[in-house]
Amino acid sequence: MSNLLIKNTRVLDGDPTDILIRDGRIAGIGPDLDADDAAVEDAGGRIAIPGLTEAHTHLDKSLLGFPWYFNDVGGGNLMAMIDNERQMKQRLGLDPHVQSMRHALQTAAFGATLIRSHVDIDTTGGLKALEGVMETAEKLKDVVTIETVAFPQSGLTISPGTYELLDEAMKMGADLMGGLDPCGVDKDPKGHLDAIFGLAEKHGKGLDIHLHERGELGAFSMEQILDRAEALGMKGKLTVSHAFCLGMTDPARVTPLLERLGALEASIMTTAPASSPAPLVKQMSEHGIKFGAGNDGIQDTWGPYGNGDMLERAKFVGLRSNLRSDAEMYMALDVCAGGGAEAMGMERREIKVGGIGDLVIVEGVSVAHAIVSHAPRKLVVKAGRVTARDGATLMEAP
Ligand SMILES: [Zn+2]
Repeated sequence: MSNLLIKNTRVLDGDPTDILIRDGRIAGIGPDLDADDAAVEDAGGRIAIPGLTEAHTHLDKSLLGFPWYFNDVGGGNLMAMIDNERQMKQRLGLDPHVQSMRHALQTAAFGATLIRSHVDIDTTGGLKALEGVMETAEKLKDVVTIETVAFPQSGLTISPGTYELLDEAMKMGADLMGGLDPCGVDKDPKGHLDAIFGLAEKHGKGLDIHLHERGELGAFSMEQILDRAEALGMKGKLTVSHAFCLGMTDPARVTPLLERLGALEASIMTTAPASSPAPLVKQMSEHGIKFGAGNDGIQDTWGPYGNGDMLERAKFVGLRSNLRSDAEMYMALDVCAGGGAEAMGMERREIKVGGIGDLVIVEGVSVAHAIVSHAPRKLVVKAGRVTARDGATLMEAP
């Protein structure tokens, strides 16, 4: 473990101070700290924020490093996009290890110290994507902690052989069991959910389920998910990603779902989309639901958007939830930093004595200014070790 003394920084919007990290944890915060046994970095009065959390992405399939992808499949047809992606990955010869190295390092350069990645498991690619991302997780463990979710992107009950591959993925060490729109894709909510909850229980792991289904259909699926999680006593082990149905405006329909999610100490991950109603920051905190955010896939066959920057994502979270005051902007940052870590079931990243030494030195007059300008990060630190400087990781991507 390395020791690091950061001079002349401001913790969030506080007064100039120093931060000492020893053996991976923050050992001191105060003016004029000294440490003979620590490397020294001068932050030049810039702001220190906790390490950022990319809580929902797909490391195995971005097209970073490839020539620009011309996309002729629009956003209206989910199954067409799924089929197109599976075919394009083969045609382009995507190497999940190389792609996940590029994607994870770019995300780390923007200040992420934690990533949760869904990884495609299907009968075309088999377990290759998981093998590649797990290799990346091992290589980058001192740069960014990567969690994997075994994700049936091409459906489960409609694709015989997928169940066995998911079982194998969990044996290989995937951290969570995934799932996908049980009505919209498999059109078999009971079959899909019984299978993934059964696998999660068999392997003693949590679940993170993609639920894009909107309105009443999404609420129906959410009830099916909650019924199973409650029956299995999965307190703190359930995540629902996207959960657009919680953005419905009828409180009589949504409030009971929120109450059940809160009682389960469940997590919701959002991209704060501009294109759909979605869960809101204050709504989640009022019900004690852990709330994280992610970029989802970046620059892939699904779309040209995203770059892995969780500070930019905090801006979208703020926009989606109509957060405006400086105090509210802290909430947007928290969803993309410490709160996101908690939503992943990890220790909250916080700049306090005793906290994990994951932090980012950012440009800006205030936290709100740092979020909206999201300038290249001056310094990224994981467990007291400098991992990126002036917008680039020290480790080079392949
Ligand atoms: Zn996703």
